[in-house]
Amino acid sequence: MALEQPTVAILGGGQLARMLVLAGVPLGARFRVYDTHADVCAADVVPVQAMAWNDLGALGDIARRAQVVTFDYENVPAQTAEWLAKRMRVAPNPRALATAQDRLAEKTTFQRIGLPTAEFRTVDTRAELDAAIAAIDTPAILKTRRMGYDGHGQFRLRSAADADAAWTALGEPAAQYGLILESLVPFDYEVSVIAVRNRAGEFRPWPLTRNHHVDGILSMSLAPAPCSEAIAHSAFAHARRLAEELNYVGVFALELFVVGNKLYGNEMAPRVHNSGHWTQDGAVTSQFENHVRAVLDLPLGETDALASSVMFNWVGGLPDKAAFLSVPDTHWHDYAKEPRPGRKVGHANVRAPDAAALRERLGLLAKRLDLAEKVAPILKALD
Ligand code: AMP
Repeated sequence: MALEQPTVAILGGGQLARMLVLAGVPLGARFRVYDTHADVCAADVVPVQAMAWNDLGALGDIARRAQVVTFDYENVPAQTAEWLAKRMRVAPNPRALATAQDRLAEKTTFQRIGLPTAEFRTVDTRAELDAAIAAIDTPAILKTRRMGYDGHGQFRLRSAADADAAWTALGEPAAQYGLILESLVPFDYEVSVIAVRNRAGEFRPWPLTRNHHVDGILSMSLAPAPCSEAIAHSAFAHARRLAEELNYVGVFALELFVVGNKLYGNEMAPRVHNSGHWTQDGAVTSQFENHVRAVLDLPLGETDALASSVMFNWVGGLPDKAAFLSVPDTHWHDYAKEPRPGRKVGHANVRAPDAAALRERLGLLAKRLDLAEKVAPILKALD
């Protein structure tokens, strides 16, 4: 039974919360958003209450006022989620959140469900870094186990001679978050599964998304990804097993490296994800709407693609909106954020009925906005 006029609490008030609210209000849901700062971009569309994640008074307020709590931010402390889960529904559950917060827990979970990962070793000291390099060799990437995002907290080692530089960059976070050294996967391309699962165990993936990153930050996504049926089938099977293993409820993303016909798990996001933003305009039901449906126990919407879609991520600033929207079937999503280097400030989707029309629209966008370099990897993927 769906709850009547339910209130959903969202922990974290960034653009994901903003878009969850925009998608969830037509379903009759009410929202309350909580963040460590009140001045966040969801505040344009919903009241935001500032709190510390361990403030028991504020947590008690959430438990009294909302029927279910969900997340825009995956690094809310797992203890916070556990405290709430004793008093109300929390979706995704605290164990899923804790798994996604720690690269070690994430990778061991992937391996347990039969999803291969890059070779890895945990690193807590300078001596362990040398031992890890000796064990898995270079090239490799040293990453913080926790709190890394968008390429932050990462250092690439081309050879063992980079160990000092890597330790200078990440030795300090090592004490706080722990580190992990991963071998560099020589991937052909990167894909993500965006999928939703409800409390009854129904699982629906959207068509596979192909992603292109620049400096560790998502730059462009293409969906449906042009790839073999076998790869898509295997990616969905891994995502389904992961969701079942974690008893997951809601939308999540599983990021994968494709090497020939093989898939390697990189990481999961226990929330709606940047690489699923194309679903707002390019799928029957968006990831945002289906997440709200799942956490409220409403029937899930269809996840089929309506068209071929490309998502442009705007990082550091917005380009000329009017020039972008002068191309047919383009859709603009501004987060109303102050531009800053490396900051995601918005995205835009372009749709087309087939690959030829999509290529033509991408060509127009590249010309009118001087985006040839950004668009090039996607045009190549469409070949
Ligand atoms: P992450 O924060 O782990 O998602 O890393 C950001 C991006 O860095 C990924 O999307 C990849 O493009 C790249 N990357 C991270 N880890 C690896 C790896 N082990 N091998 C190859 N590329 C990687």
